[in-house]
Amino acid sequence: MALEIVTKNNVRDRYKSPERPDVWKDTSDKDWNNWVWQQQKRIKSMEQLEKVIHVNEEERNAFAQSHEQFNMGITPYYASLMDKDDPNCPIRLQSVPKMGELFIHPAEMEDPLGEEKDMPVPGVTHRYPDRVLFYTTHNCPVYCRHCTRKRKVSDPSSAAQTAQLEAGLKYIEEHKEIRDVIISGGDPLSNSDERLEYILSRLRAMDHIEVFRLGTRNLVTLPQRITDSFVQMLRKYHPVFIHTHFNHPKEVTRETFDACTRLADAGCVINNQMVLLKGVNDKAEIVKELNHKLLMMRVRPYYIFQCDMSQGISHFRTPVETGLEIIRKLRGWTSGMAVPHYVIDAPGGGGKIPLLPPDYLIGHEGKTWKLRNYKGKEYEYIEP
Ligand code: SF4
Repeated sequence: MALEIVTKNNVRDRYKSPERPDVWKDTSDKDWNNWVWQQQKRIKSMEQLEKVIHVNEEERNAFAQSHEQFNMGITPYYASLMDKDDPNCPIRLQSVPKMGELFIHPAEMEDPLGEEKDMPVPGVTHRYPDRVLFYTTHNCPVYCRHCTRKRKVSDPSSAAQTAQLEAGLKYIEEHKEIRDVIISGGDPLSNSDERLEYILSRLRAMDHIEVFRLGTRNLVTLPQRITDSFVQMLRKYHPVFIHTHFNHPKEVTRETFDACTRLADAGCVINNQMVLLKGVNDKAEIVKELNHKLLMMRVRPYYIFQCDMSQGISHFRTPVETGLEIIRKLRGWTSGMAVPHYVIDAPGGGGKIPLLPPDYLIGHEGKTWKLRNYKGKEYEYIEP
């Protein structure tokens, strides 16, 4: 069904649709804009990929040696954002295997955030007192090469079956201290609307549950998934928060603008969780451009995550100083709304720890606080 986009001003005109590669030039708009068609036509082999971009030797070798451990999967829409000649294109880096994946640093772990050890029942991580992570599928439209959950994702045999889902719902129902459920995966929007509605309605019927979060990258990799019927369904279960994962301004298009508009118009609050990735977004000007574009789509830049200790991603990892420098170059130099929290998700399950460049608070003597502003100028604040 055609979707009406409510925004009538000139903001939408600033967002452009990607040009379709030749291989999909004759595809009808009806198919192209259909999320099921996009899922069915995902690129999973070198042969398919070579029809879209000029694959180089490294990518070919990396695919051959890695795809049995961690599949490649790329929607035609996301592939249409790729630069066909540039292997360092940020979209290619995130979705096409590189040789760096084959190197496992001794400090890297299969389960870097210790999610399995805090699992009272399979499919639910309960670490903090009042909130849980609830895994509902292990599929995603695009398998991100930097994924934290490589151990599960892309392996359909490990996906949540009905019995596991029911056991998870039962656990949440019995634990009245839980008020916030993060519905995750994989990507929960890989579930059908019917399955998602079943989960949301069961949770909403529990009096102790206050908010849901849907952790999804579909806005970035398959924005066609955000249909009218999907957002109408979500309206029944508010408050619903969407936590998404844009990493680069190139990922922001007319399609993502429309998807975010539909969700925001339906009353969802959308937050972005960027992962800091070498060669993709490790420069302040890239992060600033991304965050400005996100705000115009009513998406709040929420976190910058330091790349975690997942196996085979050391080629993406930046020094911590890179993240601190990005924050220094954002805070004060642009709207506070465009400055996310820079955090490290502590290895082994320590939770998210915010990193604040230490320069702003110099110290204090009694009630006199010595401060430094974003330009390096010093001030005193005396508590009355
Ligand atoms: S969408 Fe999320 S869970 Fe899926 S591969 Fe990407 S980072 Fe991993």
